[in-house]
Amino acid sequence: MIDYDVRASDDSSKSERPFDPAEHPHRRRNALTGEWVLVSPHRMQRPWQGQTEHAPPQTAPRYDPSCYLCPGNARAGRLTNPAYKHTFVFTNDFAALQSDTPNGVMQRGRFFLAQAETGVCRVICFSPRHDLTLARMDPPDIRQVVDTWAEQIEELGRDPQIGYVQLFENRGAVMGSSNPHPHGQVWATRRLPTEPSKEDREQRAYFTRRNAPLLVDYLAAELAAAERVVVENDAWVALVPYWAIWPFETLVLPRRHVLHLPELAPLERDALADLLKRLLIRYDNLFETSFPYSMGWHGQPTAGDDYAHWQLHAHFFPPLLRSATVKKFMVGYEMLATPQRDITAEQAAQRLRALPELHYSKRR
Ligand code: ZN
Repeated sequence: MIDYDVRASDDSSKSERPFDPAEHPHRRRNALTGEWVLVSPHRMQRPWQGQTEHAPPQTAPRYDPSCYLCPGNARAGRLTNPAYKHTFVFTNDFAALQSDTPNGVMQRGRFFLAQAETGVCRVICFSPRHDLTLARMDPPDIRQVVDTWAEQIEELGRDPQIGYVQLFENRGAVMGSSNPHPHGQVWATRRLPTEPSKEDREQRAYFTRRNAPLLVDYLAAELAAAERVVVENDAWVALVPYWAIWPFETLVLPRRHVLHLPELAPLERDALADLLKRLLIRYDNLFETSFPYSMGWHGQPTAGDDYAHWQLHAHFFPPLLRSATVKKFMVGYEMLATPQRDITAEQAAQRLRALPELHYSKRR
């Protein structure tokens, strides 16, 4: 395990100027995954000659008779949604995982290994209203979503066949979301998926060395640095992580050590609803559009109990870069070598922080 030294390395024989990460290309290490991102702040000066068109205005009805998520409507296979009032959870009609898959491993020689994977895929409707998003829901209604998330972790976590529960939301057509009705998903699997597995490894290694959870120490360092924090309240902080890859990526962290969502006290759940709303309004206000993103929660695995190194957190990965329609693509060098960004995490945080907390649709 490498312990990174904080001093700037003195290689000044090569250059007159000292290394300045606000100006010079550099790479940053993601403490949570052990991976790196290339940051190129000098490129922000180059002229933009790509797409600049505006997004079409978004006007959705409160109820859409053709939406398979609206209350009372028909879904696949003769199923009908109830007249739900807050949140509504159902098993995905086209689930990627099934709970009755027989357990087993098939290996043929050195290269051909398959393991059976069991699991459950569910859809969570956040609201009966077809036209809302989390950003435009009222905090008491967002609180219902927080409670539903926690209930799903608790319920699925009791199943001995389930080892990890992943909650996520794909928001917006640009992220491949097929339906604008506000909804998220929960996929629960027997085994630990790839991203939580990297985070488990790095958090465990840090805890072994320092006897403290990595993200608890990281939040303390971020609050001391005060460069990348976007929104905060009594219980929560949202910040652009030092190692962010997506232009306006954020990490949402509780102020205290929490292993997973079901542990949150009622006041912490209210505070989370408040923080999410304030963060998501900023996102929508940035380019005056319903901001697309993939978001999801990471917390301790549900099988086993050796997880004191874990800290609950949410990631928001929004793809937009310069306007409502100009998106960052992960192509070329990023697919083949290392993710890269131009705007620094500090500049992104500064821009998000400066935005108003009144949704742009209410200013007109
Ligand atoms: Zn994570």
